[in-house]
Amino acid sequence: YQAQRSRRGTAVYDPTTDQHTVGQLAMVTDLRRALDNDEFVLHYQPKVSLRDMQVTSVEALVRWQHPTRGLLAPGEFLPVLERSGLMQPLTRWVLREAIGQAASWRRAGMPLQVAVNISPRSLLQDDLPARVLAALVAAELPASLLQLEITETAVMTNPERAAFVLTQLQSRGVAVAIDDFGAGYTSLAFLRILPITALKIDRSLIHHMLDHDEDEAVTSAVTDLAHRLGFSVIAEGVESQALLDRLAALGCDQVQGYVISAPLPPAALEGWLADWRARSSTSVETAAAS
Ligand code: C2E
Ligand code: MG
Ligand code: MG
Ligand code: MG
Repeated sequence: YQAQRSRRGTAVYDPTTDQHTVGQLAMVTDLRRALDNDEFVLHYQPKVSLRDMQVTSVEALVRWQHPTRGLLAPGEFLPVLERSGLMQPLTRWVLREAIGQAASWRRAGMPLQVAVNISPRSLLQDDLPARVLAALVAAELPASLLQLEITETAVMTNPERAAFVLTQLQSRGVAVAIDDFGAGYTSLAFLRILPITALKIDRSLIHHMLDHDEDEAVTSAVTDLAHRLGFSVIAEGVESQALLDRLAALGCDQVQGYVISAPLPPAALEGWLADWRARSSTSVETAAAS
């Protein structure tokens, strides 16, 4: 049978392991087919600026429209994809799709910056900058309408390499954000030399902030530090108005989360944006009239 070593070093028998392996092999086959058949879709989640409550930026989040299992979230397939070496084709697809979508919104008079998540391994691909820049040129999208979100783990795995790749992109105008900041162990000292434009504070840091003074202290300090280094600050996973208000008071620049909107398919996002703009101009008019 399959024996596994637990964290404490004792051998434990895991009766699900064999099944697991078979299941994973089936999933790899499934994922290959999905890449060939274009079964992935991108949903887009708005980020709101706390200065004027306008939406100028959205994050692209991949989903798998599985033929029998329905719409799958990235947590259900990205780990398998990464382990089986299929992340590169997905990254290329996501970049092309998101850049194409941003270009089409811009042509429609709705310029939105689109943020794309780049996996740790994709970040270390030699040809990433060239591919990104070529995709921007092909779609005729200004580089500033693309943001790449890189996790701190990716950066810390190979800081020199990451800084080299990111510098090439940032010098051409692509925006770069550190994602999930506060969830891992990014060296604060290292932030100084990273060519980035924004920090995204992880939900785990802010979620209990209203009840935990320590979390608020860390969020506040991170926000000030980011600003002094010239980065903007985005809080992610914001679920309540009370938390949004507190983040605004701390000087956070943008928020993203269910309190604003869940990630939406492109057409639904367009409808949502029209409603959002109508509502915010009404509230501005009401405020001006009163
Ligand atoms: P992330 O980049 O940190 O994205 C934020 C995740 O939080 C998304 O989950 C989003 O749907 C979810 N979220 C948004 N607002 C809220 C909220 O108010 N509360 C809570 N609890 N969650 C919220 P999702 O879409 O399941 O994506 C999970 C992760 O998968 C992403 O985390 C990102 O690391 C990865 N991912 C997603 N799309 C891609 C992609 O195209 N390429 C790569 N390499 N990774 C991706
Ligand atoms: Mg992200
Ligand atoms: Mg994140
Ligand atoms: Mg996160």
